[in-house]
Amino acid sequence: MRHSLQLKLLFSFMLVITILIGSVLFGVSILVKEQTLAAKQQELIAKGTDLAGTLQSFHAETGDFADLDLLLANAASYLDSRIWVLDASRRVVNMSGMGMGKGMGRGPGWRMNSGSSPGNFGQMGVGLQSQGGMNTIINELDSVFIDGKTWTKTFNNPYYGEKMLVVAIPITLANGKIGGAVLLHAPVADIDAFMQHIYYYIGGAGILAILIALLIVSRLTRDVVRPLKAMQQTAETMALGDYSALIKVETSDEVGRLGLALNSLARDLAQYIAQLENAEKLRRDFVANVSHELRTPLTIIRGYTEALLDGTVDSPDQTLKYHRQMRDESERLERLIKELLDLSRLQSGRTEPAQDPIPLTAIANSVVNMMNQQAQQKQITLTANTSQHVPDIHGNGDRLTQLVFILLDNAIKYTPSGGTVTVNILQDIKVVILKVTDTGIGIPAEDLPYIWERFYKVDKSHCRADDGTGLGLAIAKQIIDLHQAEAVITSELRLGTTFTIRFPLDTNRDT
Ligand code: ADP
Repeated sequence: MRHSLQLKLLFSFMLVITILIGSVLFGVSILVKEQTLAAKQQELIAKGTDLAGTLQSFHAETGDFADLDLLLANAASYLDSRIWVLDASRRVVNMSGMGMGKGMGRGPGWRMNSGSSPGNFGQMGVGLQSQGGMNTIINELDSVFIDGKTWTKTFNNPYYGEKMLVVAIPITLANGKIGGAVLLHAPVADIDAFMQHIYYYIGGAGILAILIALLIVSRLTRDVVRPLKAMQQTAETMALGDYSALIKVETSDEVGRLGLALNSLARDLAQYIAQLENAEKLRRDFVANVSHELRTPLTIIRGYTEALLDGTVDSPDQTLKYHRQMRDESERLERLIKELLDLSRLQSGRTEPAQDPIPLTAIANSVVNMMNQQAQQKQITLTANTSQHVPDIHGNGDRLTQLVFILLDNAIKYTPSGGTVTVNILQDIKVVILKVTDTGIGIPAEDLPYIWERFYKVDKSHCRADDGTGLGLAIAKQIIDLHQAEAVITSELRLGTTFTIRFPLDTNRDT
């Protein structure tokens, strides 16, 4: 694994946890050791005090501390420690396990301080490692013999040559005087062995705790890092152009919110790109359509021209017919180019959004007048129903004329002889309505959504010279949008079609 975020997190967490657990366990083990020592000390003091009491009664009966061997041997094994009995002048008069009680009782005793004659040391018998050691301890007992206090110390016992806990308890006689002292020496080795056990347990617990922490922390860091990793991967797929992959957001924290933000970014980008692609497709289709629409009349004109040139057609009738056809196709080409330019101008958004007050009724009437002849030729009744007084709308007069013209032209074109075409101008609340109704062939419901598209024709089979370009309604739609109007088409096949255009009446402006 590289230096991943997860590894970094895991390492730092584990460092902190290990230091924490280590120091806690270190403290605990020191505490346990001190507690154990203190407990041992307490125990020794309690036992020693008992023993001092016993020795005091013994002294009261016998007047000295002689003949204590049995008593001390019992006590020593019971207390698991070595026992010394000192008399009032700090002479060791008895020692457990040494079997020297009598000798010491009878002899001059060992005064171990500096005043003692060196000869006395010889009487200590075998097994004592250091007479000086005994001396060193006894010299420390001022508080016991002068103040009558209990004295205790853990140290490397100079007499026994091992680490021991030593407790000295004064023997207070009935008359209140200090008649001597009891010294208990307990080896600390036992405690150390006990502590060794404790250390093992604590160490084991520590390692266990660290392992558990490792488990928890690694899951935790994985949970933190996993969504980030997923986001990274998703972002990489996005960079490759695939916006479909969404991040699974599982939390509501910062990471979750980052995921949501990335998702919405991906959605927006996908939408944007879909729009771009759609626009690109429309553009391609448009170019293909334009090329097709332009090529057809050109092909016809060229074919006829060649037929006339190479003499295939020579009768005057035929020649006239061919010339007429060529003129029609030229006109069609001209119209097509004019409409294309018109549409492109409208779409460019550079169109004059003129805001002149326009009387729609006047426009409707003039277009109807203009087209009356065309309607009559087809025996279609064309009427303008403009009796209602309606306010002017704001807009571009030429464009609105063009709009009415396109709608009427279509209505006449797609209505059979004997039908009627009516233009209505009405007012509703805050709108002026332009309604063009015909009794024509109607538009199939499935074509209605596409009717405004460039080059869209319902009947693709015979739409040649009879002569839609498929651009009329596309231009109409641009004009409608330019005036912020709304268009609705209702149509029944073979019964007729109604185009309803609703122009907003801006009440803020004078009408
Ligand atoms: P065109 O130049 O072919 O008329 P338009 O964009 O003006 O192109 O119209 C698109 C298509 O909508 C037409 O080809 C025709 O099929 C249909 N259409 C438009 N107006 C009417 C109508 N009043 N009645 C029936 N069909 C219509």
